[in-house]
Amino acid sequence: MAKKEKYSPMMEKYLELKKDYQDAFVFYRLGDFYEMFFDDAIKGSKLLNLALTGKNAGVKERVPMCGIPHHAVEGYVETLVKQGYKVAIVEQLEDPKKAKGIVKRGVVQVVTPGTLMDFHANEISNHFIGALGIFEFNYTLAYADLSTGEFFVLNMPKNEHGLKTRIEALGFKEIVMEEAHDIEHVMVSEFKDYKVKDHYAKLFEHISDLKQIRVASLLLNYLIETQKRDLDHMQEVVEIKDDEYVTMDGYTKKALELVQGAAGEKYGSLLWLLDHTNSAMGGRLLKQWIEQPLVNRSRIEERLDNVEVFVENFLDRETIRDMIKDIYDLEKLATRIAFGNVNPRDLKWIAASLKVIPSLKNNLLSINHPQLTTLAHQLVDLSNITNTIDQAIVNDPPIHLNEGGIIKDGYSSELDELRDMKKNGRKWLAQFEEKERERTGIRGLKVGYNRVFGYYIEITKSFLPQVKEEFGYTRKQSLTNAERFVTPELKEMEDKILSAQDRIVSLEHEIFVQIRNYIKDYVHKIQDVAKIVAHIDVYTTLASVASKNNYVRPHFNDEHLLHIVDGRHPVVEEVIKHQNYIANSCEMDRDHEILLITGPNMGGKSTYMRQVSLAVIMSQIGSFIPAKEASLPIFDQIFTRIGASDDLISGQSTFMVEMLEANNALRYATENSLIIFDEIGRGTATFDGMALAQGIIEYIAHHTHALTLFSTHYHELTYMSEELGIRNVHASADVSGDTIRFLYKIAPGPSAESYGINVAKLAQLPDEVINRAQVILQSLEDNNIEKTLTTTKPVYVEKESEVEKVLKQIDPMALSPLDALSTLIELKKML
Ligand code: ADP
Repeated sequence: MAKKEKYSPMMEKYLELKKDYQDAFVFYRLGDFYEMFFDDAIKGSKLLNLALTGKNAGVKERVPMCGIPHHAVEGYVETLVKQGYKVAIVEQLEDPKKAKGIVKRGVVQVVTPGTLMDFHANEISNHFIGALGIFEFNYTLAYADLSTGEFFVLNMPKNEHGLKTRIEALGFKEIVMEEAHDIEHVMVSEFKDYKVKDHYAKLFEHISDLKQIRVASLLLNYLIETQKRDLDHMQEVVEIKDDEYVTMDGYTKKALELVQGAAGEKYGSLLWLLDHTNSAMGGRLLKQWIEQPLVNRSRIEERLDNVEVFVENFLDRETIRDMIKDIYDLEKLATRIAFGNVNPRDLKWIAASLKVIPSLKNNLLSINHPQLTTLAHQLVDLSNITNTIDQAIVNDPPIHLNEGGIIKDGYSSELDELRDMKKNGRKWLAQFEEKERERTGIRGLKVGYNRVFGYYIEITKSFLPQVKEEFGYTRKQSLTNAERFVTPELKEMEDKILSAQDRIVSLEHEIFVQIRNYIKDYVHKIQDVAKIVAHIDVYTTLASVASKNNYVRPHFNDEHLLHIVDGRHPVVEEVIKHQNYIANSCEMDRDHEILLITGPNMGGKSTYMRQVSLAVIMSQIGSFIPAKEASLPIFDQIFTRIGASDDLISGQSTFMVEMLEANNALRYATENSLIIFDEIGRGTATFDGMALAQGIIEYIAHHTHALTLFSTHYHELTYMSEELGIRNVHASADVSGDTIRFLYKIAPGPSAESYGINVAKLAQLPDEVINRAQVILQSLEDNNIEKTLTTTKPVYVEKESEVEKVLKQIDPMALSPLDALSTLIELKKML
């Protein structure tokens, strides 16, 4: 930047404004473009693939500049923000035509990674921005979704690992802090203002913890500061209490494939299976439920009651599901209303959605179930909004406001008049001409129009003497053979006709804004309706899935009893199209707290353990479950250690991760927890692993008493004393000769053998390896391990040679001496 030189006034203004937005790209509106200058332009042109040009700005060197056409701005903003930048959007704050001097400009919004709003229809993920407070004894985390107005806060223990998993689970792109600290993969925005503003005090009404208020308010103020407008759509802050939901760390959620399948996509996850919701809000709610199963029994039963009603009422369910299909994303539409960026089509969508509500309500009431009746009554009547929109807005409105054609005829007499004017202007002029001819008696009188003088009455020279004072004609222009006049009436009409189009557009805009403001007062009501719709959507969806797949309602007990008859893995059975899925029961109780599962690899052990965990989770979100019958305890936490494929990426050794997870479970599990350990200990030497596995089991048996499913390769573990509360089961398999067939049936008692070699054979490992393994195994089983490893000499059981094959087939006693001799010669040749 040049030093003492003076920039042009516009550039001076730009620089003044840029000072406050050093950390953002400034998109500066100049006419039809948004321009970037200086470093923004240099960097921005690279990131956005734009031509870097220059602007004369009063100094010797041109100022680097690059620009974006105004109508394409959204895409460019999104590109930058998704790469982790902020963009400050500067608009012209007054009409350039009316401005004296330089047009006034100002920042109207700062778009940041956490505030980038996704209005795409049917977006079923929340887009949360977080705020973090670090206090002496705890962390306080607030988070909100600007596009739906949802707002939460919670306290959590001061534990770095816990914080990290939480942040990951909530998918923050940006976190606001009073004092910035580095957080991996997240933009941290420093912001100081945490004072609660009067206008928003009601959002904090149900929060009593001052730290929570402080952090939530910090977040809200940051949102207001970046969005530069009232955020009247923000919903009341809801405190998430940790003991409200089943505790599962990010690893467990991932391992159980709750919202993402093995490939990291929705496919194959529990969410994928269950999500047949018909509205975007329903989809988001279901996802929240799946990630946060409840622990409060009456809340769970309440959900199950509602699902059950819809399982039993097929017709009502399907009718209601059809109705919900017609409801658009009301939560996001409400936000657009509050933001003032709703378009005419959005209004139509709101009307269409709200139109469904009365019949939805009637349907719910007709079911005559107390809980659904309560829900139905919360569906407030908003037909005033529907009516207003339908009366005012045309049926198929344009998305943009700037061309008119939005407001229906008959809504505003002023608008009707203007439209008439535009349409009938010509007709009026013809009539006016006729009228004036009659009035003046001048036959040669003509009404005409030109761009410079506008509308006029033209009278040719020959008729001029007939023009009288009382006509009220004012001379406007003289031509060689004619004079042109105007009258006040014509002038008035001219104004009307010429400005009609402009006025139509601006009047339509005005009316539109009036309607928008009228609806704005109902934003919270619309959100409430959206919430109820979301719930009904989820209940009917869970019911529909339950009916289709033959699920049952789970029951709960306080007896530490897990009893599942013929349970299935809901996703696996769906994927294999319900054919051949082998159902398996699970019985655990105080005397059998630990299920030790042995059996061949690929035999169905982990599927079985996952199936039990999913039954627990589904039950506690209020869903029916895939089983014939089930009674379960209510679990407070779920710990899992399954598989190890993704550990490599995180850089920790499988074994280390295994031990960390095991440690978590041993430390924090209570007797109300569920522990799933899949082959723990296999990541180290055999004796080590086995010893650790046994130690862990004993610890759980003596101290934790959590219901535990433990699959293992270590056959030796099955000899542990049953007094510890261990029940042995195994994934059964059918071995005949060399082949193995998996039965997937979990059977009582330990597995007879581990079938590793059979499976290896199935996988077509070289015969040499298989044969050698068999020899070693035999020797291991006969002796002890150490002796085997040191003394068994490697007997390479080679592939049978041709000579051997022939030799085997020969019966020497049946050979004549001569044959014996010739065979010997043949054999010798084969060597
Ligand atoms: P393990 O954990 O014993 O190695 P898995 O549980 O991974 O075995 O099961 C291997 C495969 O067997 C699964 O991917 C699934 O396709 C199939 N399978 C498992 N359990 C069943 C079952 N109960 N019914 C039908 N197929 C099953």
